Amino acid sequence: MPEAVHFDTNYGSMGDAPVADREGTCPFMRSFMNTADSYAGVAGVVLTTMCDQIRRAKDLLDLKSSMPTFLMNLPATWQTAHTHQLYFSELKRLGRFLASIGGEPPTRELLCNTMDKYDKARKLIRSLGGQLTGRQLLTTILKFHNTGRVSLQPANTPTTEKISVAFVGGPLSIQDCSLFDYVEEFGGRVALDATETGERTMPAPFDRGRLRDNPLMELTDAYFGTIPDVFRRPDSALYKWLQQEIRAREIRGVVLLRYVWCDLWHAESHRMKEWLDVPFLDIDMNEEHPEVRNRTRIQAFMESIA
Ligand code: SF4
Repeated sequence: MPEAVHFDTNYGSMGDAPVADREGTCPFMRSFMNTADSYAGVAGVVLTTMCDQIRRAKDLLDLKSSMPTFLMNLPATWQTAHTHQLYFSELKRLGRFLASIGGEPPTRELLCNTMDKYDKARKLIRSLGGQLTGRQLLTTILKFHNTGRVSLQPANTPTTEKISVAFVGGPLSIQDCSLFDYVEEFGGRVALDATETGERTMPAPFDRGRLRDNPLMELTDAYFGTIPDVFRRPDSALYKWLQQEIRAREIRGVVLLRYVWCDLWHAESHRMKEWLDVPFLDIDMNEEHPEVRNRTRIQAFMESIA
């Protein structure tokens, strides 16, 4: 049965990788493709229509690699029953793809138990949120995505003197942990990780009764129905969620972390700055990791909100 591998991408350029360094390609997607291509034991790659770069990634992988790929249709609009139905049928199509590359369709009981197990793990991660540093939380979530398990880390005693800031934006890699460290170094803590690899993209807790009645519909409701994201049209749910969390966690500044060539987050930068009523810092990231520049910018930002 195929196992899900959520790559911890490696930003380094790879000699004979399918996608060479090139301008115009989102560094995250390029690293994803090259990591997938070099990762032993990958039976197939699942991508979505979330952005043009991911669509293009499927074309490139099909062209330059022999791995089977699956492009899942992710409707940008979300306010109609029709789009929920489309997502539901895409889950079924994904199931057929997984069966075609060696998977076995799970029994209803196995599916329910697996969903239950993941739901409990996410609940545990949520409960740890306030006790872990931003780095620890990111590491915990990345490990969970890779293994389905939560390894407990030593909890910290939250200190009220630290300035609470939020990270928002695209996916982070383990190599981006230094960004959390800079915030801590200059007297703050990342009290809300609203990046794609943080708390924002965790689906809502499952409803036990509905899970047993119709597990696929419950997956649809929990994932498609509740995760706020920048690609949604309208993306009002993202702002509503951010507003609620910023208030609840007494956030004093927001840092947008976006990849160079990521049009979705780039387009949001101006609007977010206008909309927020707390200070805002926009950091564009690439695979060269300009550590000094990022550290200096975070230092100046932290000083400005102290
Ligand atoms: S970071 Fe932006 S451009 Fe890159 S894959 Fe994600 S949404 Fe697409």
